[in-house]
Amino acid sequence: MAGIKEVLIFLLAGISASISGGCSSGRSQPGNSNIIEIRGIYGSPNPFWNKGLNLNELNVNAVFLNWKGINEKLIERAESEGAEVFAEFPLLNGRDYVEKHPEAWAIDNNGEKVKPASWFMGVCPTEPGFRQFRMMELRGLLRKFNIGGVWLDYVHWHAQFEEPEPVLPETCFCENCIRTFEASAGIDVPDADIKKQALWILTNCDALWREWRCSVIADWVRDARMILKQEDPDALLGLYHCPWDDNDFDGARYRILGLDYNMLKEVTDVFSPMVYHGRMGRSPVWVKENIEWFCNALGTVSGSFPEVWPIVQSYNDPYQISPQEFEDVLSYGSGACSTGIMMFTSNSVAGSDEKTETLKRVYSRLMTNQ
Ligand SMILES: [Zn+2]
Repeated sequence: MAGIKEVLIFLLAGISASISGGCSSGRSQPGNSNIIEIRGIYGSPNPFWNKGLNLNELNVNAVFLNWKGINEKLIERAESEGAEVFAEFPLLNGRDYVEKHPEAWAIDNNGEKVKPASWFMGVCPTEPGFRQFRMMELRGLLRKFNIGGVWLDYVHWHAQFEEPEPVLPETCFCENCIRTFEASAGIDVPDADIKKQALWILTNCDALWREWRCSVIADWVRDARMILKQEDPDALLGLYHCPWDDNDFDGARYRILGLDYNMLKEVTDVFSPMVYHGRMGRSPVWVKENIEWFCNALGTVSGSFPEVWPIVQSYNDPYQISPQEFEDVLSYGSGACSTGIMMFTSNSVAGSDEKTETLKRVYSRLMTNQ
């Protein structure tokens, strides 16, 4: 069986040929029965394997899991069942790191060290030691295992968006951040205590500050991509990210998290919006609306990079996600311009015979659309 990358390259070649008037094969337009190449699971396949189920019989062809859970045996078995392995790599979450390296602790607009945003603890993204540490970890991962790609996770400034009531503090006003901002924007922030400097920035150069913050996040992705492509030019760089539109929470995706899709689409192969409807207090149909909005916002052309492979919720939190609801979000998530789909988590699906059957049935349908 051809690997996922080969399939992508083949399909992309087909599209460019059809645009230039050659071969007529290619992807259908968004909104039609788009081709779904990636039918993924998020989490270890072990919960399925422990039940005697193979990935190919579930119609799964991609496994996404935390990089620390990857090992050679897992890759070998997944590949033998027709599935490629991708590593989830947490970028800016690091409670352990800031506890050992207080210089990397993010600072809020009161000049205080930030508190954890529920379970998330964002590290200051401009602290040079942390950046070096994380990028070395990434290079180490890519040298150790031959994987299909890396999906960056927690790619945002300190905040929490995965809850119905998000935590959205103003950060980071540490010395590194203020100095880097001054150099980048070509301005001088008056000498004062941190609280006064933060107020001055937010009062006098709010737009420049927000834009600079987005550029810092895009730079992290650019650096990670450079390392990835140096180690394996064929590997894909994906992004798990907040799915909010431009209006949600008063534009907090751009304003607080620092995600500018125009910057990110230059350095990202695949976007995986985390459309966790249950966690975010939304209805299943919101997944459909959100992916349609996102495809439009990204301006992605069917059959070209960047691609969109959403991740939908099966996990029972804060309530039981029914098999029907799970089926709905899988279908909605694979609509519009999506060319892949995955769900959170493998454990939550394997733990329910009905959800396992749902996954198998929906993925079978997506396969036959090809
Ligand atoms: Zn900082």
